[in-house]
Amino acid sequence: MKVNWRLIHSARNSYVALYAACEQSGFILYPVKEPAGEVTCYSLNTINEPINEPGLRDEITNADCVTIIGGSHATAMYQDVIRYADYVVVGEGEYTLPRLLAAIEQGTSTAIPGVATKDHYEPADTDVRLDAYPAFSEMKGYVEISRGCPFSCGYCQTPQMFGHCMRHRSIDAVAQYANRYEHARFVSPNAFAYGSDGVHPRFDKIKRLFHHLRYQIFFGTFPSEVRPEFVCDTSIELVTQFCANSRLHFGAQSGSNAVLQHLKRGHTVEDVVRAVELCCDHGLTPVVDVILGFPFETDEDQLATVRLIKWVTGHGMVHAHHFMPLPGTPLSGTFARPIPLKTAQLCGKLALSGKLTGSWSDTAIKPHS
Ligand code: SF4
Repeated sequence: MKVNWRLIHSARNSYVALYAACEQSGFILYPVKEPAGEVTCYSLNTINEPINEPGLRDEITNADCVTIIGGSHATAMYQDVIRYADYVVVGEGEYTLPRLLAAIEQGTSTAIPGVATKDHYEPADTDVRLDAYPAFSEMKGYVEISRGCPFSCGYCQTPQMFGHCMRHRSIDAVAQYANRYEHARFVSPNAFAYGSDGVHPRFDKIKRLFHHLRYQIFFGTFPSEVRPEFVCDTSIELVTQFCANSRLHFGAQSGSNAVLQHLKRGHTVEDVVRAVELCCDHGLTPVVDVILGFPFETDEDQLATVRLIKWVTGHGMVHAHHFMPLPGTPLSGTFARPIPLKTAQLCGKLALSGKLTGSWSDTAIKPHS
């Protein structure tokens, strides 16, 4: 059975991981630019989902082959997506997708936990153990070191997709993949939580991991950002001693403690300020994520965020986005507040001076710590 993978740039990480997982079960996911063969798989996330790209919905609807759709958008909206696809993989794909492909090939029942069809759905009955699957195979990818997040930030799809229990790839398994290339970059909802329950850091385990890595390490920067309250002398010294990155990337999201509390972020503005100062003390450039336009923000909350942006850009950089209510999140169904002209002008000015990046004029966010 010929199984294809629809190439979508923003879903490359999913392709890398699922290619390796399916290969292990004897299925190669051939890259295609349109649906073809007997089966074509898609990963739909927030950026490429069919509301933003209606062409994809039409393409899937009219595909002349079996279509399997996964990804964060499909997971959150499986009842909608199944109306135009044959199967939706809800949640993690490493275990479920090869199982579904085998059932399609053998003509056996596709009533599989974690797979939605037009007339059947039951949730997955197992969580993926990262060590059971390669981080990547032929295609180079980032090494996913941790999955799942104990927090429930109102705008974020990660816990819906991967659950609240943090799971980690073992040190040996991380090293096996990271040591294949000269630059080691990692995927994690919070890199400083490696080896821990996601709340109580285990910096000893991160240090042990670093001792197993041979080449240049990039940690706490794209795509393994961290949470601000995990930034401390110990964690920063791990970066300055072992890693090649000169930046540390973490999320503030708002300059208002009332907003952070509403979001259930689990940290305060003071944690962010402390993290920025610690970075500067240790010679690292802080890069701080901010989201503008939460629906429940007051004018005073917005001003507090603007003050934070100004202060951070005096010490490092800001990565700003306009809030987007993602499906499956606690804030789904709400509407972003418009960004005041003065705030947009400030962002533009800071962007021109190289102090701010992002897409504050678009309603798009990249959820992470
Ligand atoms: S934003 Fe980060 S900390 Fe918050 S739920 Fe998502 S992954 Fe977890």
